Amino acid sequence: MIEGKLIVFSAPSGSGKTTIVRHLLKQKELNLDFSISATSRAPREEEIDGKDYHFLSLEEFKKRIKEDQFLEWEEVYRDNFYGTLKSEVERIWANGKHVVFDIDVVGGLDIKHIYPEKTLAVFVEPPSIEELKKRLKKRQTETEDRINMRIAKASIEMATAPQFDFIIVNNDLQTALDEAYNLVKDFIQK
Ligand code: 5GP
Repeated sequence: MIEGKLIVFSAPSGSGKTTIVRHLLKQKELNLDFSISATSRAPREEEIDGKDYHFLSLEEFKKRIKEDQFLEWEEVYRDNFYGTLKSEVERIWANGKHVVFDIDVVGGLDIKHIYPEKTLAVFVEPPSIEELKKRLKKRQTETEDRINMRIAKASIEMATAPQFDFIIVNNDLQTALDEAYNLVKDFIQK
């Protein structure tokens, strides 16, 4: 491979983008690796530091912003910072792989603007806000308040969909997985 590419999956949380990203990472022939974001939020029970996220204290996160270590970063929810470390992208490219991102819409569009040619930006749309609510409740990782916060944000995020290269509507998971696979396969062959 001459040069690695960037593949962004952005969506409101609960739309199924993480499932899609995990599926793609298992397809070895695509030669993808996951950009492990940094975050200041607390780990969920099943999450592993250095695998799901680099979990940093709020103070450490802010220090790294000052040191210009992030390609993009954002305060996604109050005091919950998330960001892509430049070192992550460099690590993956140095290993001869393409970088896959599971990040929010603002971060996703930032990456597309920084590397317009090299980035495939995909928006994963949930069938409806009602369905999203159901999925978030089923997940049972968040309090009612936090679920409502995510739903409120989802409506705003849905409006950014047309700015992405492609939209996948996640009505039927298998169809969404196939669509994502084909999009990525085409893009990395270009
Ligand atoms: P969660 O707390 O559910 O893991 O993530 C909350 C939101 O932050 C999700 O939309 C997730 O995609 C987004 N996110 C995760 N990593 C990053 C990142 O590095 N940058 C940005 N801008 N958003 C991120």
